[in-house]
Amino acid sequence: MAEAKYRTPKGTNDVLPEDHQYYTYIKKAVRHRCRQAGFKRIETPTFEKREIFERGIGEHTDIVEKELFLVSSHHSEEGSEEYALRPELTASICRSYIEQGMKQLPQPVELYSIGSCFRHDRPQKGRYREFHQFDLEVIGLTDASLDAQIIHVANKIFADLRIRDRLTMQINNVGTADNRKEYIAALKDFFIGKERNLPELDRKRLDTNPIRLLDSKEEDTQILLKNAPTLDQFIDEDSKAYHKTVLEYLDELGAEYVENPSLVRGLDYYNQTVFEYWDIDTGGKNAVGGGGRYDSLIELLGGQPTPGLGFAGGMERTIWHMKQAGVQAPHKDQIDIFVAQLGPKAKKKCLSLISELRDQGVHTLGALGEASLKSQMRLADKFGAKYTLLLGQMEVKTGTIILRDMALGKQEEIKFEDAVKKVVKLLGPENLDTYTLNDHFEEK
Ligand code: AMP
Repeated sequence: MAEAKYRTPKGTNDVLPEDHQYYTYIKKAVRHRCRQAGFKRIETPTFEKREIFERGIGEHTDIVEKELFLVSSHHSEEGSEEYALRPELTASICRSYIEQGMKQLPQPVELYSIGSCFRHDRPQKGRYREFHQFDLEVIGLTDASLDAQIIHVANKIFADLRIRDRLTMQINNVGTADNRKEYIAALKDFFIGKERNLPELDRKRLDTNPIRLLDSKEEDTQILLKNAPTLDQFIDEDSKAYHKTVLEYLDELGAEYVENPSLVRGLDYYNQTVFEYWDIDTGGKNAVGGGGRYDSLIELLGGQPTPGLGFAGGMERTIWHMKQAGVQAPHKDQIDIFVAQLGPKAKKKCLSLISELRDQGVHTLGALGEASLKSQMRLADKFGAKYTLLLGQMEVKTGTIILRDMALGKQEEIKFEDAVKKVVKLLGPENLDTYTLNDHFEEK
């Protein structure tokens, strides 16, 4: 590794071109499936008032207690009001739904977003301080068919990326807030006198957010939980019926799932349906995506009571699975033509040639420096160019140019004015990088 004075901050990564191909590929799959399902794209600021996350996600969740990246705006006129970098996208999108009056739109409002999120966690494999999510939200309507449909869209995305069969989709129903209140009381009762046997972290959780004990990774906790009351004993009949309908709809769609009564997710705002995509071999650690229904979040954030449902997938963990599965992200970064030149006249003349080739959709590099033709050819080879066009002093005089096939090592002299046409024909129209303006606007 080269010596560097400055390095990426802990838990962050440079996304280098090789990996960017994966990000682009995932974004394409997400955009495609979202558009098919009527979702529209939204972008919210990377930071928000910290209160939005504290209220929404819950004060005693890991995300808020330990992982919120705080940003203080002490330079601004607003004083020292504190902001936080978004740890996820749902709360921001709900804030926007309220602020922008989206209640006036036909409901449900279906939105998707792709962007970076921040959690100040201890970095480890698959867990970063800056990572990227693709996120789908369906706001304004409760219906079991929406739960099944959002899961189906997520399934399609993972299938398109060819990793669906590496994952299981775990699903549960966590009932209403009242159901969970009663359950929490029962759980606390059960643990009276047993606190000492809990690992320290879980002892704290028993105090602040007991329901999180259910997905504790601690063995001691899991052993104790074997005799504890279970959440499903407290789920009311309506929620059970709702869950049954969601599962029926998933069956109808041919969507595979694993019922998991211990799945609670790490965020407070969920009610009813929760689901997560787990590694088929290693389970809940480093889940690739997850989501659920959040019917009280918008009200919590100051809006009219409005139901909602969302899903977020993690790009880095998705990429990890794609690589494990040997999925190559297709890319268009190849260099088709290298234009080598010698002498000031040739150099000047080839600038417009390069520009014209690029406009025709040919990936072109050239007019680099003043090195000899031989060393420019070597460079063309290093860049992996398919063809090289050589323009020397002689060719300028005779109005010609030399076209060299790099793989075959063969070359021919052609008329300068025919060069673009010839190259376009050689590459084939299907290999030209042309795009419509619409594609351009969406490519991000
Ligand atoms: P969550 O809502 O916390 O389940 O996050 C949704 C998805 O985002 C997860 O399934 C992961 O794929 C991804 N994710 C969450 N936190 C991190 C992190 N610290 N580093 C990388 N990916 C993450």
